[in-house]
Amino acid sequence: MSDAKISLPIYMDYQATTPLDPRVLEDMMPYLTGKFGNPHSSSHKYGWETADAVERARAQVAATIGAQEKEIVFTSGATESNNLAIKGAGRFYRKYRDHMITVATEHKCVLESMAAMEREGYSVTYLPVAADGIVDLDGLRESITERTLLVSVMSVNNEIGVIQNLAGIGAVCRERRVFFHTDAAQAVGKMPLDVTADNIDMMSISGHKLYGPKGIGALYVRAGARLKLDPIMSGGGQEGGLRSGTLSPALCVGLGSACATASGEMAAEAIRLRGQFDRFVDGIRARLPDAVLNGHRHRRIPGNVSLSFPDVDGALLLARLRELAVSSGAACASAVAEPSYVLRALGIPERLAQASIRFGIGRFTTDAEIDYAIDTVTSNVTRLRKAV
Ligand SMILES: *Cc1c(COP(=O)(O)O)cnc(C)c1O
Repeated sequence: MSDAKISLPIYMDYQATTPLDPRVLEDMMPYLTGKFGNPHSSSHKYGWETADAVERARAQVAATIGAQEKEIVFTSGATESNNLAIKGAGRFYRKYRDHMITVATEHKCVLESMAAMEREGYSVTYLPVAADGIVDLDGLRESITERTLLVSVMSVNNEIGVIQNLAGIGAVCRERRVFFHTDAAQAVGKMPLDVTADNIDMMSISGHKLYGPKGIGALYVRAGARLKLDPIMSGGGQEGGLRSGTLSPALCVGLGSACATASGEMAAEAIRLRGQFDRFVDGIRARLPDAVLNGHRHRRIPGNVSLSFPDVDGALLLARLRELAVSSGAACASAVAEPSYVLRALGIPERLAQASIRFGIGRFTTDAEIDYAIDTVTSNVTRLRKAV
């Protein structure tokens, strides 16, 4: 056995968060120790040196998505970015528009921001997805009216890893003259993104999903007079008035460094992850041929493997997989595990959805860990089935 180097439990929850890359921490360290100036202090060296660091980081974030520096607003994370995009645009344009469009499988912070706008007078269309998790472009086109302000569709789904057709959605939004916002928390640093090519007006980014620190994110806001937002935070008018409050230079530097690191390694890392994805799925299927991969077969990022195991009690299986840090496809808010709303939206039968597990593969996953995970999953599923 080669698992002497494996430390248990094996981390396979990369969609929930990622560990901070040591190279990113190294870049952050000077701003957690000696360089403590307020980046908004413009009259002395302490402020200048941290302001410079913040602007270098802003350029790194912008470069990752094909944006300009002035189009990047630092926030506390993708939750805040999604709130700012949806509520900010909604409130600014309230007198002119009263309809927004999103998708049933979005992250809660998008859905709850939309619900807040419904309470403020907007009507919201929640588009369904096909069984593969992809939004239908014709359905999107038909739901846009002259009262529609914006369309918000996530780039990559956090539960099943499917990639939406950003270029197609962007083209529809441009043709119908509505704003296009995308929650790219699971996409940035993992796949090439180009806000100009795909006609994206706003994009939400999260530091801790791409090996950066927690508590930092960004909202890309297309420059030009066309797109205006009402800020959520009132105060000193930092970040072009869109996000008041003193920036954390260490966290900004961490986000910039994480973006630059991920961009530089993206092509090679995607190939490595694809290999581990195939190794994992093939390994599971060799012993459990009826395991179902949730989401589109090909339009997906390799780091997210959502699998359903027929004829197994999902709660029991998760309890048995103590050696893996994974998350289930069920929301355990109540004593009875309910299938997640994302799996439900795919039309996955309840008995399958309750036995779904999301395995995350990431930058620090080793082949030995993949093999260990295959072993423990297949042996536990087999044992649970025999026990019935
Ligand atoms: C993690 C995540 C968020 C929330 O990001 P935070 O930075 O933790 O606020 C939003 N959307 C998606 C798709 C995510 O995966």
